[in-house]
Amino acid sequence: MRLEANIVSQGMGGLACALAFARKGYKNVAVYETASNLGFVGAGIQLAPNLARVLDRWGCWETIAAEATNIKSSSMRDGATGRELAHVQFPDIAEKYGYPHMAGHRASLAGGLYEACRQEPNITFHFATSLADVKTFGPDRVTFVAQPRHGDAYDVETDVLLGADGIKSLVRGALLRAMDIPADVEDTGQAAYRIMLPRSKMEGDAEMLALLDADCALRWIGEKRHIIAYPISGKTIYNLATCQPDVNFAAAPGATYTTRGSKPAMLNVFADFCPVVQRMLNLVPEGEVCEWRLRSYKPLASWTLGGVALVGDACHATLPHLGQGAAMAIEDAAVLAEVVSQVRCGGGGSGSGDDREALSRTLKVYEMLRKERTSRLVELAAFSGRTLQLGEGKAKEERDRQFEMARQKGQPVPDKWASPEVQHMVYSHDCIKEAQEKFAELYAGLGDQTGGVKVAPNGVPEA
Ligand SMILES: Cc1cc2nc3c(=O)[nH]c(=O)nc-3n(C[C@H](O)[C@H](O)[C@H](O)COP(=O)(O)OP(=O)(O)OC[C@H]3O[C@@H](n4cnc5c(N)ncnc54)[C@H](O)[C@@H]3O)c2cc1C
Repeated sequence: MRLEANIVSQGMGGLACALAFARKGYKNVAVYETASNLGFVGAGIQLAPNLARVLDRWGCWETIAAEATNIKSSSMRDGATGRELAHVQFPDIAEKYGYPHMAGHRASLAGGLYEACRQEPNITFHFATSLADVKTFGPDRVTFVAQPRHGDAYDVETDVLLGADGIKSLVRGALLRAMDIPADVEDTGQAAYRIMLPRSKMEGDAEMLALLDADCALRWIGEKRHIIAYPISGKTIYNLATCQPDVNFAAAPGATYTTRGSKPAMLNVFADFCPVVQRMLNLVPEGEVCEWRLRSYKPLASWTLGGVALVGDACHATLPHLGQGAAMAIEDAAVLAEVVSQVRCGGGGSGSGDDREALSRTLKVYEMLRKERTSRLVELAAFSGRTLQLGEGKAKEERDRQFEMARQKGQPVPDKWASPEVQHMVYSHDCIKEAQEKFAELYAGLGDQTGGVKVAPNGVPEA
């Protein structure tokens, strides 16, 4: 199919967009990325069943799953004492949702997607090349400016531009400016340390080793701070992600979103946490403390304009407490390719992109399919963060009562990530199936001037 799809960038959402469009038969797929190579920051990532379902359709789940850990339970502990507040078993996730809940290395997820992309001759990668501006959004073809790190900027024309350029998205800024919509970035006031401890460093400590060898995700929670930890990479690495009030980034507004942190500062933040946490944090080599700024923004009024659509963190950045940020970006990509391939436009055949109005309406359908769900997950992640980090007082007493009820009677857990009802809502979702089922109705609902557009039968786009 001759529609041209240009994608910024090769983050989780960008790689997924490239793969999804190539798999739909699009012959002109190009990826622009500021970085010189794949180079992913070392950190763990949760691979929930809704994400696995998409990756499996693309044939890259097996290799990614091979080195991930099957998480079968979650333990919530009081940070200061280490006392277990609740322990939720989820032994039947795979039975219920078709895939287990796994935790892996970001490099393995990104690498798996990238390798699958490299098997596709129709995807071209432009590394060390940034998108500098979007000049036109429509009604004609989209034009954007590509800026190679070494060389002159040049204009690129395309049918579709997908802005998967992350939390600081330049595409989002340009799109909102063009629509005169304010971009409300919310400073969450939170930051995160991401830590990976190799097995060799934990081996001498029986308590630590037991954590590494368990199929369990742990949370230690305290006032305004918590830590989530789980084993990855065939249990050779214990991955920890903290969350604490942001001090460093707030003190230097405009700075980057990740920075080398100070080890004494990190130890100080968790100084009142239990001994095993202290020992683990102490294993982090001086100079290897990496701190992330956590930001989000209010739901955007629009994700699309003309032939341009936003993807992933660019349109629904989230706090990490539900472990769904990358999953949502990858689901976005799958849905985009699905809907674009479902419309027959003008004489160019299904998904050809030569009917600009049809294409732009199709992108709107993508937004309609994704916005409610992603807004809900973003809100649930924020809710979990607030609940986990309560200080002394009535609200904390109520939360701990709920943890106790969950422990004794299997009632809902205040940690939404481990809550079976929330898991059901998140994990059972089949974004591609939903897109196939709802596309025609949503598309028709956008107006009656279909402009010669015919909807292909569900899931069977014209080649
Ligand atoms: C502490 C922490 C823990 C997390 N844990 C999880 C988890 O367990 N599970 C999960 O699913 N998610 C998790 N997330 C969230 C997840 O990492 C993000 O939601 C996900 O990576 C978003 O993917 P993306 O493609 O939208 O953006 P990104 O992966 O951030 O990619 C953006 C890309 O755009 C490139 N770029 C930016 N501007 C330009 C430009 N102008 N031109 C060209 N390229 C550009 C960047 O170089 C980058 O490669 C976590 C996040 C944090 C901070």
